Amino acid sequence: DRITVAELAERAGLEASEIIKKLFLLGTVVTINQEIDFDTAALVLSDFGIEAERETRVDVTEFEAYEDEDAPEDLVPRPPVVTVMGHVDHGKTTLLDAIRQTRVAAQEAGGITQHIGAYQVEIGDRKITFLDTPGHEAFTAMRARGAKVTDVVVLVVAADDGVMPQTVEAIDHAKAAGVPIIVAINKIDKPDARPERVKQELTEYGLIPEEWGGDTVFVPVSALKRQGIDELLEMILLVAELRELKANPNRRARGVVLEARLDRGRGPVATLLVQNGTLRQGDALVAGTMFGRVRTMTDDRGRPLKEAPPSTPVEVTGLEGVPEAGDAFMVFEEEEARAIAKARAERRRERELARTRIDLENVFDRLQAGELKEINVILKADVHGSVEALRSALERIQVDGVRVNVVHAGVGAITESDVNLALASHAVIIGFNVRPDANARQLAEREKVDIRLYRVIYEAIEEIERALKGMLEPVY
Ligand code: GDP
Repeated sequence: DRITVAELAERAGLEASEIIKKLFLLGTVVTINQEIDFDTAALVLSDFGIEAERETRVDVTEFEAYEDEDAPEDLVPRPPVVTVMGHVDHGKTTLLDAIRQTRVAAQEAGGITQHIGAYQVEIGDRKITFLDTPGHEAFTAMRARGAKVTDVVVLVVAADDGVMPQTVEAIDHAKAAGVPIIVAINKIDKPDARPERVKQELTEYGLIPEEWGGDTVFVPVSALKRQGIDELLEMILLVAELRELKANPNRRARGVVLEARLDRGRGPVATLLVQNGTLRQGDALVAGTMFGRVRTMTDDRGRPLKEAPPSTPVEVTGLEGVPEAGDAFMVFEEEEARAIAKARAERRRERELARTRIDLENVFDRLQAGELKEINVILKADVHGSVEALRSALERIQVDGVRVNVVHAGVGAITESDVNLALASHAVIIGFNVRPDANARQLAEREKVDIRLYRVIYEAIEEIERALKGMLEPVY
């Protein structure tokens, strides 16, 4: 329950400058667009002889507004949802294929493999859902849109190659999302495989095997020769069990759009991941800002389904438009669904116009308002030495108890995936002797992510320090 000075002024029929002056006399310096909390607002208004009333506002365009919490006794275990990440060519795709094929062969064959963006395998009476788009780009693009999909990350590291830049990126992205990592040491069939070296290298990033006193699970595999696959699946189930993943199948479905496209014959086709409840054929729903009614629903082998319980990926038709990957969906009564879809479309337009962004210029205001306790930074530089020099200098900065938190640091140009990570973790991007590539620049412009480029280390440090002190000159 916070309100901007401007909005408070308007509602109270006062001039914003009067409120700012009053707050100043009370010892608080604010700007017109800054938010203040209820108690402060009430105090100011009482000085004008106005009594403040706390307003509980429900945003009817948010699905949360329609969601009652599940009673603990209604919750049952659900399968974990897994994303495979790792450096290019370390075997992510081969591993996903190996898992799918060994398990499909183990179950009796039925239907033909369809690539719908995710698939499910059975291990005894348990299941695991795998997202079929490997890599941290898709993972973080989802997160940037507010979708929390992944329960466990499988980090693939080739035993003949070791830790590489994208391995480190994947670790940072998983950590930023708070998702546990299982390491699959791949290509152990190769003569030059050195699995122990991989373990050694990963300790530097806080991934320490159990036998060395840590709590990270390592599984040696050969995706190509289909070795170690069953062990890996067992370990995924084990790690997932510790998380006590649960859902309530007896409620209307809610989840996330994994993929969506326009099919010439079938119209909009979307892959939905059911996260709670059970999705049924015929259900009316809202996906993103689109209304729809589930006309057909099939699994990852093209078999028609009548019902999809939690953690099931399904391909559906019947939407009136194509939603975006990462959009949430939820089932409603038809009339309600139509109205909510419309309201959400309007709301999204408004949001796009007034997106609050983190940039170095508003950092100070937000620190003052108590919205930020530290400032998140993504660091890219031309050479490893500069990355480390900048990182340690930034991490040493401390202004009035506020610190700089380096979410990710790496060598190379600023990419789309960096911008998505910045969006997901509300970070500012700092480039040292590097520039954003064309896609990154476009995305940053659209999403209003602050990218700062420097050629001198101390200038970068100084600018961050000034931002934390609220002394940054705006750039126009
Ligand atoms: P991705 O870029 O991480 O998806 O990697 P791919 O799955 O495309 O694999 C890259 C290359 O490594 C391909 O030529 C694979 O055949 C090979 N590869 C993957 N897993 C293994 C493995 O376990 N052993 C060996 N020898 N080669 C593998």
